[in-house]
Amino acid sequence: MKTVLMLLTCFTLVSGCAVQHDSMNATLWVQTSAEYQGNSEMVFNVAESRLSQLRDKQDVTADMDQAKSLGCAAGASCPALASADLMPAVVLDIDETVLDNSAYQARLIKNGGQWQPGSWDDWVSEKAAIPVPGALAFVERARLEGVSVIYVTNRRCSVRQSPGESSTNDPCPQKSDTLENLITAGFPPLASSDLLILRGERPEWDTSEKQARRQHIAERYRIMMLIGDDLGDLASNIKKSSVEERAQFVSTHQSLLGEYWYQLTNPTYGSWQRALDGGQREGFLRVN
Ligand SMILES: [Mg+2]
Repeated sequence: MKTVLMLLTCFTLVSGCAVQHDSMNATLWVQTSAEYQGNSEMVFNVAESRLSQLRDKQDVTADMDQAKSLGCAAGASCPALASADLMPAVVLDIDETVLDNSAYQARLIKNGGQWQPGSWDDWVSEKAAIPVPGALAFVERARLEGVSVIYVTNRRCSVRQSPGESSTNDPCPQKSDTLENLITAGFPPLASSDLLILRGERPEWDTSEKQARRQHIAERYRIMMLIGDDLGDLASNIKKSSVEERAQFVSTHQSLLGEYWYQLTNPTYGSWQRALDGGQREGFLRVN
């Protein structure tokens, strides 16, 4: 009897844990809903339809910092940019923008776990992420239109210590893993590994803020389009702002969205969650 009770309690607890896991609904939505699929396809379809026009707008950048460095605004004509004669590029995030890592989230739900650097790095090393709907066609189209595709990801470089191995370990095995995963997912091989920029590849890039990495890109490229699932993929120094500030930011810059900026939907994780930290989550629920 005692054993039966223990088993029942265990079963109840385990299933309870799984049902109540923070990302259960969000992960199921990503993995099973035609609505998620449709939304991603829609975002990439619109972006694809804008490729040739934005490529030819040689005086306009999507990147606020690139514009500002020339005394201009993103999405507005900037004669100094046209004279700089930079190559047109689309800058895409990786996770939940071109690669779908929901299987990792599903494992966390099944195991009752939370995101951890170690389990995430194991997942990255599996190279098993699948393409986000619409991403393959978009990247292929960008290449055909003569637009460079550059990936900026917050996958972080860190040495993997294997027993018995010396200090000659690869400083960033996550980079080759990601390059391989992109290929197994069906994306075209990169002309140069410089077109994939990870967090921490250089000491000054060891931050989740992508500003410094976009500035590096802007030295050689005109950033004609930005695509990501997080506000931080589109602009600098906003992802750590409050719920209200983030909303205000999007309102102020809404004319860039669907034109120069493209936002994928990620209900599972992101800087939107961090904006809730420090408060009672229920306190953010709006009831009227
Ligand atoms: Mg992402």
